[in-house]
Amino acid sequence: MWPLFALVLGLLVGSFLNVVIGRLPKGESILFPPSHCPQCGHRLGPLDLIPLLSYLFLRGRCRYCGKPIPLRYPLVEGLTGGLFLLAAFFYPPSLEAFLVFAFLAFLVALAFIDLDTYELPDGLTYGLLGLGLLFAYALAFPLPFPEALDGALMAAGGLGLVAGYGGLFLRRFREGKAEVPVGPHQVHMAALLGLLLGPGVGMALAFLSWALSARTKRPVVLPDRLTLPLLPLALFLTPFLGLSPLEALKGSLLAAGGLALAGGLYWAFRPLPEGEEEEEPVAMGYGDVKLLGALGAWLGAYSFLALFLGVFAGAFLGLLLRQRKLPFGPYLALGGVVAFFFGEALWRAYLAWLGL
Ligand SMILES: [Zn+2]
Repeated sequence: MWPLFALVLGLLVGSFLNVVIGRLPKGESILFPPSHCPQCGHRLGPLDLIPLLSYLFLRGRCRYCGKPIPLRYPLVEGLTGGLFLLAAFFYPPSLEAFLVFAFLAFLVALAFIDLDTYELPDGLTYGLLGLGLLFAYALAFPLPFPEALDGALMAAGGLGLVAGYGGLFLRRFREGKAEVPVGPHQVHMAALLGLLLGPGVGMALAFLSWALSARTKRPVVLPDRLTLPLLPLALFLTPFLGLSPLEALKGSLLAAGGLALAGGLYWAFRPLPEGEEEEEPVAMGYGDVKLLGALGAWLGAYSFLALFLGVFAGAFLGLLLRQRKLPFGPYLALGGVVAFFFGEALWRAYLAWLGL
């Protein structure tokens, strides 16, 4: 009965996610107006809203105007149903199982919104992050809180640094514009200082730079062409400085992640003064960084497996579909789902393959 329940719940949630995916990026209300045909605008009755079945019985056409219903709708419903069914095989009926359902629902919504708009809404990425940390704190599920927090920070810090080096190479080692009061410059600075001085001091100094930038309204921060090249050098030198390379790297990623997630939170929810135009932060957009950070709260160290799988799937499908511009969110979400359910098994299989 439990797998069947999970499947039906997943289909219903998938139907709701279709509404979220369609309306959230436009800033429309999720609840009003009630569902209507996207073609003719006719309000849909209960018989038109049965997940999958309505689509099949109506043969993919609107009952009122006869125009085709996008295949996307039954696809999202079926996918969500299938994912909930998968979760039901891993988790018995419990509060934990419902948390996993929520995790999966967030990822489906994020993946399809990114496909449509090339954006990952902050409400969803930070929502997923907050939910993961909250339940880690309250229930030690899916991870004990310290592991969830470390996972979120290190995952966000890791991908934030990848983005930093990517930017440096794209600009051919020219200094990029520093964002005021906070931007990737503080993330890179926190990474270097966190490596040398530990995550606490590294973060504190980077937050100090944020505060000074806010006060003076100009960037008070170490330049990228200093911090980014020095970081691998400092890591290489850690044994000579009496530091453990692994601990130093962890400190670096923790500090960078702290700044990436806090800075992203600032840009996402900062209060806008009256009459001021909304200006998008260029680099602090950081959608994928925030998504991987959120995955870190649920996956811990396995978030790096999610990243690896996401890059792998993205490169593979990118070659297959020959698409130039690919949103990365769907692949990260896919990697996250695989790592969540099969991460440990994959890791064991890999170690066995290495002969360890
Ligand atoms: Zn219609």
